[in-house]
Amino acid sequence: MNIPDYFGSMVFNDKVMKERLPAEIYEKVRIAINESKRLDLDAANIIAAAMKDWAIEKGATHFTHWFQPMTGITAEKHESFISPKGEDNVIMDFSGKELVKGESDASSFPSGGLRATFEARGYTAWDPTSYAFIKEDVLYIPTAFCSYSGDALDQKTPLLRSMQALNRQAIRIMNLFGVKNGRVKTTVGAEQEYFLINKEDYDSRKDLIFTGRTLFGAMPPKGQELDDHYYGSIKPRVASFMADLDKELWKLGVLAKTEHNEVAPSQHELAPIFTTTNISSDQNQLTMEIMKKTAARHGLVCLLHEKPFKGVNGSGKHNNWSICTADGVNLLEPGETPYENAQFLLFLCAVIKAVDDYQDLLRISVATAGNDRRLGADEAPPAVLSIFLGDEITSILEAIENDTSYDAAEKEQLKVGVHVLPKFPKDTTDRNRTSPFAFTGNKFEFRMLGSASTISSANIVLNTIVAESLKSYADRLENVDNFEDALHSLIKKTIKDHKRIIFNGNGYDDKWIAEAEKRGLLNLPSTPDCLPYLISEKNIKLFEEHKVFNHAEIIARYEVYLDNYNKAINIEAQTATEMLKRDIMPAILKYSKELSDSVNAKRAVFNSINCNYEKSVLTRLSEINSEVYDKTILLDQINADTAAIQNAQKKADNYKSKVIPLMNEIRKLVDEAETMCDTAYWPYPSYGKILFSV
Ligand code: ADP
Ligand code: MG
Repeated sequence: MNIPDYFGSMVFNDKVMKERLPAEIYEKVRIAINESKRLDLDAANIIAAAMKDWAIEKGATHFTHWFQPMTGITAEKHESFISPKGEDNVIMDFSGKELVKGESDASSFPSGGLRATFEARGYTAWDPTSYAFIKEDVLYIPTAFCSYSGDALDQKTPLLRSMQALNRQAIRIMNLFGVKNGRVKTTVGAEQEYFLINKEDYDSRKDLIFTGRTLFGAMPPKGQELDDHYYGSIKPRVASFMADLDKELWKLGVLAKTEHNEVAPSQHELAPIFTTTNISSDQNQLTMEIMKKTAARHGLVCLLHEKPFKGVNGSGKHNNWSICTADGVNLLEPGETPYENAQFLLFLCAVIKAVDDYQDLLRISVATAGNDRRLGADEAPPAVLSIFLGDEITSILEAIENDTSYDAAEKEQLKVGVHVLPKFPKDTTDRNRTSPFAFTGNKFEFRMLGSASTISSANIVLNTIVAESLKSYADRLENVDNFEDALHSLIKKTIKDHKRIIFNGNGYDDKWIAEAEKRGLLNLPSTPDCLPYLISEKNIKLFEEHKVFNHAEIIARYEVYLDNYNKAINIEAQTATEMLKRDIMPAILKYSKELSDSVNAKRAVFNSINCNYEKSVLTRLSEINSEVYDKTILLDQINADTAAIQNAQKKADNYKSKVIPLMNEIRKLVDEAETMCDTAYWPYPSYGKILFSV
């Protein structure tokens, strides 16, 4: 079958709806999608019937409301279409009510206290802006997930609210530029990094199974220093995985576009074509799931953890983000005329101001135990927020700030709304890969996201903080006498106030961290460091003001994020002690015995024989094992003490300051022992084997 024939073949998309729905119902759906309006029950009934017929023709037997609780992954509960008819028969049935709303036992999902124990029910509500699809004979209906009192228990609800917030404020700005009845949405293309390893290697490592990353492992003789993997030729087995993955994703209407090798050995990337933010978010969740399933069919395991292997690059997600009008005009694309240029500069400045004002929220939006291992390490972005604009735009902004011309040939001062900006080349080359937040010609690329997380958190924050900038701009620009002058001084003021966030240099350089500190930028290296900022007065006000979260919802999220972190580290510590006690220390002991036996055997032949190798390795291994033993006992103790702390923030702080450093110390010793032991004695496949054998 050729690709256009099966692309989206499992999606109840616009084309299918147009074909299968009565014209007036199709119109209602379009309005519901475009204007976030509710559908009446009669319409829902007709849509449900059409959806069911279509799904059954495609082999579906069940349906599910599909939602994104605060676990970061998706949840589903399959229900069959069957409904009894008479005594012995069934019919396939699916009502508008079932489409629109579902009840779900919320008690097994994190709620951060939003779900009172006496009211365990939550409900799921259809999101018509993201198309339903069929996967493994089940009709999936994308939904939002709320408590019975209407509080968001998921990632989709606040994401949709944040898109509306941005729309509300951007419309005010567009009105000032003479665009009436506009609508504005954000678009996202999320590049996804991942590792592929052999299933049997995965199965023989408890750390990968329980925590998603290796807790021990010495560096192989060859790492990524040769850069021979990046964009290198794709091995047949991986190529066949990628082909299969693309095919599965295309059937589901996911615009998978590019597949290539990444920097680290066994690391790869998939980039989709961008689309509306909430669809992009749903599709990224699907992509991660299909990656795992497809890998399994190829005898592989897809690792989505941010730092599966110490010493080699971690995996992230690049969140390419822009704002566009209903007619598809990209508002971060510099236009042709002075007017378009002015509008572009205003939106650009709105983002600059937002990132500077809300560095803390952006940092929080990517904070997880897994991503803590990646941010700041190797090639990954540092934990400090800054914006890369490139030389051209930076010099334009400088000209505006200093009332000068923007190039030597030009004598006149650069005036917003009067002058045409010089054409600058679109940065498609990722010239500065070290910036956490880079302008790449017509969009921003936020690169701090972790590979395992949903992209919703980051986009909720991005949309909301830019909405806030736009609101402050609209408040100031509405009702001024001279719009052009006011606009010029507003842009000038933004540059003056926020230029500290602009940094075009090497973000991985230690000197930058010192410089950032001088500039007063926030450096929040870990999740427990940054989470308290979520509930600062300033941030609560922001979310309430834009109706993205109410007070209770923010507090709940703070609790859930802390809890997720605490659980993750606790599992790591427990896995580590289990590996140490049952596998690693016994293995070192066995090899030590082998060495001792060798000494005895050799000496039995003749007493003065040289046993230097045995003796020196034996000595070091015995030292290591004894030290590891002491530290393991201590780790058990500290981990138990930490688990007993009631206050979640204190608990997280303890994991960070006590448990993690101790685990790191133990790891150092164990990794040294690994390099000294006979491979046959070591209980786990080595980095060398895992990373270079697919
Ligand atoms: P490449 O890196 O292949 O040259 P780009 O850098 O233009 O391509 O795009 C990288 C990612 O950014 C892709 O997922 C792409 O779809 C996405 N992207 C491009 N334009 C936009 C936009 N206006 N809004 C959001 N994402 C975009
Ligand atoms: Mg890119």
